Amino acid sequence: MRRVVCPGSFDPVTNGHLDIISRAAQLYDEVVVAVAQNPSKTTLFTVAERVELIREATKRYDNVRVDRFEGLTVDFCRDNDISAIIKGLRAVSDFDYEMQMAQMNYNQAGVETLFMTTNPLYAFLSSSLVKDFAKFGGDVSGLVPANVLERLSSRLAEP
Ligand code: ADP
Repeated sequence: MRRVVCPGSFDPVTNGHLDIISRAAQLYDEVVVAVAQNPSKTTLFTVAERVELIREATKRYDNVRVDRFEGLTVDFCRDNDISAIIKGLRAVSDFDYEMQMAQMNYNQAGVETLFMTTNPLYAFLSSSLVKDFAKFGGDVSGLVPANVLERLSSRLAEP
């Protein structure tokens, strides 16, 4: 089975992520969306919430699985019999770091990284921009799936 992992924080998942996930699902037998649990990183949503939001938003794809992991992506790959990582590239600014990371992952574990160029509609989009805009009343309805929009509004309304 040809399986690829799409790793990230997904705090929360955006339409940019979903575009990459759905396109990867057309190329691979299975796409595993791996949500990073990093105890030293402050997130708006817990890892369980982030997993649930992605599961809801990807339920129409029967070859997309959502899981969580802590530690190195290459260890997750080894444990799940995955030989490649897929990453979305938005702009040149993503490139330097992603290339270093890809080379490190190949050097350490022989895991390949494939880069998919972003859909130009979402080239500017990141989870942090969505959170910043939503926090101050911005309209992010075209940028995230409906379930995320709903959870974002209720989370930000909490005291
Ligand atoms: P991280 O915690 O590594 O910054 P994110 O959750 O923000 O990860 O993103 C996970 C992956 O999705 C990264 O490879 C990132 O480049 C990609 N990505 C994020 N936003 C977009 C977008 N708008 N278009 C394409 N790819 C994206």
